[in-house]
Amino acid sequence: MRPTGIEIMVDYLAAGLDPQKSIIFLQSQVPEHAELHLLLSMVTPLGWLERVPTYKEALENVKDKDLHTYGFLGYPVLQTADIVIYSKEGTPLVVPVGEDQVSHVELSREIVRRFNSFYEVRLSDEAFAAARQANLVRLLMFAYVPQASRLALHPLTPEAKTTVLSEIRRSIVKEGLDNFLARVSEYKEVMALLRIDKVLCEPEAMLTQTPRIPGLDGRKMSKSYGNAIALSESDADIRAKTKVMVTDPARKRRSDPGNPDVCPVYDWHKLFSPPETLKWSAEGCRTAGIGCIECKAAMADNLIKWIAPIRERRVEYEKNPRRVLELIDAGSKRARVEAVKTMARVREAVFGWERKRKELSGGGTAAGA
Ligand code: SF4
Repeated sequence: MRPTGIEIMVDYLAAGLDPQKSIIFLQSQVPEHAELHLLLSMVTPLGWLERVPTYKEALENVKDKDLHTYGFLGYPVLQTADIVIYSKEGTPLVVPVGEDQVSHVELSREIVRRFNSFYEVRLSDEAFAAARQANLVRLLMFAYVPQASRLALHPLTPEAKTTVLSEIRRSIVKEGLDNFLARVSEYKEVMALLRIDKVLCEPEAMLTQTPRIPGLDGRKMSKSYGNAIALSESDADIRAKTKVMVTDPARKRRSDPGNPDVCPVYDWHKLFSPPETLKWSAEGCRTAGIGCIECKAAMADNLIKWIAPIRERRVEYEKNPRRVLELIDAGSKRARVEAVKTMARVREAVFGWERKRKELSGGGTAAGA
């Protein structure tokens, strides 16, 4: 394990996450994430990934690393796998995120929708075996197959079934499963031909109370931009770093009134300072009653106060890395139980080996995939 895994866990624990209430785990200890990533990457169009705003932004901003790899481009696919591997039918899948991550969750929804379009719908083995030509033709017409009535679908061989299924899936991928079902659902006999097995849930973004926290330089806060403050940093480092924080760019001189709403320092005040300091900062800024130096110093005082107990707990956990590793192992074990269940469902939807086994042992008819 890279040492950062333990360090990040130490930060989580010090910040107050309780491993009894939250399952905290290491992705690399749950190999099912990588497997789901691979399968999702097969259905994700390249253009979707190239258009992700944070991808383009990082290519423009990060110059000391080569980001031209699939690993970096495909990161949103891995992120999707990380989220939806914990899908449970009937349970909303909610992801608490900052503003800049909302588009990633939206992309995850698109990827899941596309994956489900391919694999959620099958033909019912029993209904297909007894299907009337008229209903099969109607189904193909719903899938916009030209001259469906002229297709020779009988005898109902596995090949005929594959043809029908691939036409339906092609149509569903194009228009979306909900739209397809909305058109088909009133024809009960046609609907009876379909089997819909829920595979993965579409995640939803939940904005946190502070959906946007800018970095020291006003850009998105990111370790790769070097514009963040670590929980382990000393008071002196915090003061030195916040002293040079970007402020309202229009406030050039001490006598110029400023606008706290466009100032990263004020965003940080909102996180760490009490209401009276917030009021003092906003009013002082707008009236030029205070200077940026004293405003930043007040914010740094409150940040240091906020961080002090976390840093103390951090030191305690740092002294006991073995205990931290035990907590990671225990959390990863718990997470894996759920990931294994999802992957069993996903593998069956994609490859259909259980159905095939049943069919070959005489326990069913032709596989639906
Ligand atoms: S006074 Fe404070 S809020 Fe206003 S621009 Fe300066 S640092 Fe920002």
